[in-house]
Amino acid sequence: MTTDTASAPAPAPLPLLVLGQGTDLHTERGVECPGDLPAASDPDLVERARAAKAALGDRVFVLGHHYQRDEVIEFADVTGDSFKLAREAAARPDAPYIVFCGVHFMAESADILTSDEQTVILPDLAAGCSMADMAAIAQVEDCWEQLTAAGVAEQTIPVTYMNSAAAIKAFTGRHGGTICTSSNARTALDWAFEQVGGVGLDGTGTGKVLFLPDQHLGRNTAVRELGLSLDDCVVWDPHRPNGGLTREQLENARMILWRGHCSVHGRFSVDAVEAARREIPGVKVIVHPECQYEVVERADEVGSTEKIIQTIAAAPAGTSWVVGTELNLVRRLAQQFPEQRIAFLEKNVCYCSTMNRIDLPHLVWALESLVEGRVVNPIRVDPTVAAEARAALDRMLALPGTTHKD
Ligand code: SF4
Repeated sequence: MTTDTASAPAPAPLPLLVLGQGTDLHTERGVECPGDLPAASDPDLVERARAAKAALGDRVFVLGHHYQRDEVIEFADVTGDSFKLAREAAARPDAPYIVFCGVHFMAESADILTSDEQTVILPDLAAGCSMADMAAIAQVEDCWEQLTAAGVAEQTIPVTYMNSAAAIKAFTGRHGGTICTSSNARTALDWAFEQVGGVGLDGTGTGKVLFLPDQHLGRNTAVRELGLSLDDCVVWDPHRPNGGLTREQLENARMILWRGHCSVHGRFSVDAVEAARREIPGVKVIVHPECQYEVVERADEVGSTEKIIQTIAAAPAGTSWVVGTELNLVRRLAQQFPEQRIAFLEKNVCYCSTMNRIDLPHLVWALESLVEGRVVNPIRVDPTVAAEARAALDRMLALPGTTHKD
């Protein structure tokens, strides 16, 4: 018997999934509810974090996203949403180290907006974002090729949500598009449609927006704020040939929505809104625009995390709220505003598991390493990618009325 190894089929290459640049459906099971958070922090860790931060002084600036755990937020020099935090990082040119307590795409944006002399550190590299991972650059490039072949790319401009990998922001910059946040999405869409002949609600408009990667923010903004119809929106599914759309559907569409969503906000349901209204007399429902269209339609208020915080802070004492956003923030709101009755919208939704990857042990490790002169987990965006992404971010910063609030 002879063995012909030359004719044996080559083993399939194992996919290498770089954070923020791939999709691994298996690991996305990590979005399942992990149950209660771990017990209160080890007092030694709290003391160690304090000592390391004091030793570093002004050399370190710690950013904490609103969805972070309390034990981490305690050590943040500033808290906010992704855009506000990136701007805060850029406003601290004297701090050589920025420790970003958030997720990977946020640290990338901070690296793009800070100087080459500064280093952005993500305490746990596994802190990704399932929404950002739903748009891989190869898929997006393939989509654009299909739009070109269908003859619609020339009339299409990309608008990309902040919650995306740097490579997707760079694609947007290359094709003349802009980044948006959940608070300026309407302004960004107005600007984008102006670039392709206007929104033309009277039937005269033909220009299109390719909205990445959150279909819900794109749909909610286009239909509820711009006046487009649900029929004007189509969903591009990167796992189906031609996105699962016919040429005619692409030609007729005004919003081509990428089939991505937030694994937390996408799970709030209409049933939960109706249950809250039944159970809490006079309740007001406030949700994030990453929620599904049907849920947002049934809410009293919709807005970014910053808007949710401001709305509840400004409400008269004794008001009842159910809130559809990340649970760490909702719990903190309930503690900060005891004069309000604040509840979480959905029993079957829990913390953002990737946000929760940043815990006190990881923060202490990152800070103590810096004290010892070691940089762990630096986030460095490739300079070419960073330059193209920066072009898209700068277009957003030039939008009228864009503030530091997301
Ligand atoms: S809350 Fe949603 S969009 Fe935000 S980091 Fe988690 S998965 Fe991503």
